[in-house]
Amino acid sequence: MSAENAIRPAGVDLVCIACPIACRLIVTASGGGDATVSGNRCPRGEAYGSEEVRAPKRILTAVVPTDSAQFPCAPVRTDRAIRRELVKSLLSELYRQRVALPVRQGQVLMEDFDGARVVFTRTLPPDEIPSVGEPRAEAEGEDQVPGLQEAL
Ligand code: SF4
Repeated sequence: MSAENAIRPAGVDLVCIACPIACRLIVTASGGGDATVSGNRCPRGEAYGSEEVRAPKRILTAVVPTDSAQFPCAPVRTDRAIRRELVKSLLSELYRQRVALPVRQGQVLMEDFDGARVVFTRTLPPDEIPSVGEPRAEAEGEDQVPGLQEAL
């Protein structure tokens, strides 16, 4: 256990976030590096309280930059909680991405980060706005715009 995560003798006050009841938990050291959780109404609260003071984890939601002028960001999230101490490092990796559209909800962006996959949470079509210098869609026929039918 790192010093940062050591349980203070007086205990740590937490609110359980495992369900909407939001029990108030008190986590105290019980010797041998173990923790005792009180205030929980169910075993999930005990598991949450113990993990939160030792190795807290978080589901991460974020956006990644795309190559699209119309949809410049695509929302993503981890499919499971990652260690809280790794959140900044994952954000740095995500902000360095340059995603090509289209993407679909559930598509995997990153296969393994601390045991979690990073997936898109929204389907985004390809850009429908031509870049400067590209011919307008009408000039080539609308049915020639890639992905236009799927977007409608
Ligand atoms: S301890 Fe159990 S009942 Fe209480 S908030 Fe956590 S999950 Fe819900």
